Amino acid sequence: MPEGDAVWRTARRLHEALAGRVLLAADLRWPNLSTARLAGVGVDEVVPRGKHLLARFDNGWTLHSHLRMDGSWVVEPTATPPRRVAPRRSGGRPESRGGGFVRAVLVGPEWTAIGVDLGMLDLVRTDREHTLVGHLGPDLLDPGFDAGLAVTNLAAAEGTVGAALLDQSNLAGIGTIWASETLFAERVPPWTPVRDVPSERLARIVERARMLLTGSIQHPVPTSTGVRQPGRTTYVHGRSGRPCRRCGATVRVASIGAATRERPMFYCPGCQGGLGPTDDGRPIGPLGALRR
Ligand SMILES: [Zn+2]
Repeated sequence: MPEGDAVWRTARRLHEALAGRVLLAADLRWPNLSTARLAGVGVDEVVPRGKHLLARFDNGWTLHSHLRMDGSWVVEPTATPPRRVAPRRSGGRPESRGGGFVRAVLVGPEWTAIGVDLGMLDLVRTDREHTLVGHLGPDLLDPGFDAGLAVTNLAAAEGTVGAALLDQSNLAGIGTIWASETLFAERVPPWTPVRDVPSERLARIVERARMLLTGSIQHPVPTSTGVRQPGRTTYVHGRSGRPCRRCGATVRVASIGAATRERPMFYCPGCQGGLGPTDDGRPIGPLGALRR
């Protein structure tokens, strides 16, 4: 799932392609939105909010999208004449692209943005954006990020510190990569009840997560190790079954979070306090125990 830094880069790409331009055509292939008329509307800006994207228009409306697991926005030069949109109303198959389905097309004069496999798509009045993103905690990539509030939210959370970091209502932007990398960097056992983590330590965790995300927004290959070669970008994420770069113990992965919202958490038992309670300790491959 794209994390805050990837969504930030997507927002910047969309902003550069569409902001300050008037849409020549648009098509939202989504229940209840297919009749929306955005042609002729100006794009004021495209901004990220946690893992959410907000495209704000000059008519007082905002197009909200979320990439969920596999979504993406592709930007390509606008065809001449501009690509026809809404070609499948007469019962044709949904347009696919790269194995995914096109759910939104925004045609600007120079660039066309194509939303593929989007997880959420909403059109709301800009002054009602809070109904979609108001539940989010402080955004790690917001220049005005409120670290104190993020720590307060985490300290008041239930469950494990790993699950609390992934809960976007505590602080926004962290997914499984940065949760795993942050807790490894700070040598925190992911399954520690968050109420048992002193607030000074929570503050260091928050600062580390912010550092990792902000360090990754300018480059398409995120890294926590400082190295961008494939296979060397992380300490623990995606490295289960391989030796820890710090202590040599075998990196592992196990589930974290409430039963219905389990997520994979990569960690090093050597650096982070032994086997997690959801880890059966069996030999493990790079895909982890979760998919065997
Ligand atoms: Zn280690």
